Amino acid sequence: MLKINEHFLKLQASYLFSDIAKRVAAFQEEHPDKDVIKLGIGDVTKPLPAACIQAFHKAIDEMAVESGFHGYGPEQGYAFLREAIAVNDFQARGAEINADEVFVSDGAKCDTGNIQELFSLDARVAIPDPVYPVYLDTNVMAGRTGNLRDDRYQGLVYLDSTKENNYVPDLPTEPVDLIYLCFPNNPTGSTATIEQLKTWVDYAKENKALILFDAAYEAFIRDDALPHSIYEIEGAREVAIEFRSFSKNAGFTGTRCAYTVVPKECMAYDSKANKQAVHPLWNRRHCTKFNGVSYPVQRAAEAVYSTEGKAQTRELVSSYLKNADLIAGVIGELGFDYVGGDNSPYIWIQGNRDSWEFFDLLLNEAGVVCTPGAGFGKCGQGYIRLSAFNSYENVVRAMERIRQALK
Ligand SMILES: *Cc1c(COP(=O)(O)O)cnc(C)c1O
Repeated sequence: MLKINEHFLKLQASYLFSDIAKRVAAFQEEHPDKDVIKLGIGDVTKPLPAACIQAFHKAIDEMAVESGFHGYGPEQGYAFLREAIAVNDFQARGAEINADEVFVSDGAKCDTGNIQELFSLDARVAIPDPVYPVYLDTNVMAGRTGNLRDDRYQGLVYLDSTKENNYVPDLPTEPVDLIYLCFPNNPTGSTATIEQLKTWVDYAKENKALILFDAAYEAFIRDDALPHSIYEIEGAREVAIEFRSFSKNAGFTGTRCAYTVVPKECMAYDSKANKQAVHPLWNRRHCTKFNGVSYPVQRAAEAVYSTEGKAQTRELVSSYLKNADLIAGVIGELGFDYVGGDNSPYIWIQGNRDSWEFFDLLLNEAGVVCTPGAGFGKCGQGYIRLSAFNSYENVVRAMERIRQALK
């Protein structure tokens, strides 16, 4: 008799997006004449930058002839892309990262989900609340938690992001080994300063812990004082892995390309407390379980770093930031407390009412879809997330309707 991995049974059924879809469908059925504007999902809406499309086409043409054909590539990614990433995303900002520390993949979702495989099942895990659910659920699946009780898995350390700490969690009061951080944050849109990240890096060094830093929204940072990478923090090479993606800066959500940086100094410990480098372990895992991102996609990603590509991706991100600024402005005028909306495509709004009640209010009175904060964790109760991923025209209309509905 085949037995299943019972840890999967501990997972909380994720009704969030299906619940949203159901309520939207019911509303549309009742009001077939009303159009609904979606500011809920975290998916980009604008097409790929022209430089990426050009490089993509050219690479596909290469694949059509024997002399240009590419079969299996290096699992870690082609040197041309790893080099462009190391130089442009890190060395140009004074962060010392080399091409052989960059692992190209088909998504930061997979990488942030898979990385926990390298660490022992009794690792003490610290997870932000509210959170991008991937970090949480993959640790549940692996068996690093007990059952769910009062909206929280037993055995995890939750890092509360609240108004009191300006949505940047404080250091844990109990010891932890593995720490997930995400800045600019999804869902809150909050950012972390160099000083704040430094306290985490110092903590990790003191406690022989490791930080898993998700920087998927790095391109939205426009405040020059904010760090784009954790490797801008002194000492981070020893204690941090960073995840990046082309999804949000260049619209690759449906094209699929991302990367993970594992510096050679990153260490974890075996049962005899001997240091073990993490880089060769991730390399082994990656080569065993992954066979590389397709050649044309890697060429399209490389084009993000061309002169035209840089200008086009900046413009793309700026257009979403313009939406975010508009959303934040109206929400502020209406008197709500919020975070995000600058250096981030998300606006996290304290609704002074239940998350779903606020969701229903916006849907019924304004015809606007948001995401109820409670879907991201206990600390999200009472909040909603608005996303800037839509056209400017739709955001203008949505905010005008919200203004009318809530004034
Ligand atoms: C969108 C997003 C990613 C990127 O995921 P991909 O799989 O690369 O598309 C990673 N982390 C967070 C928090 C995100 O919101």
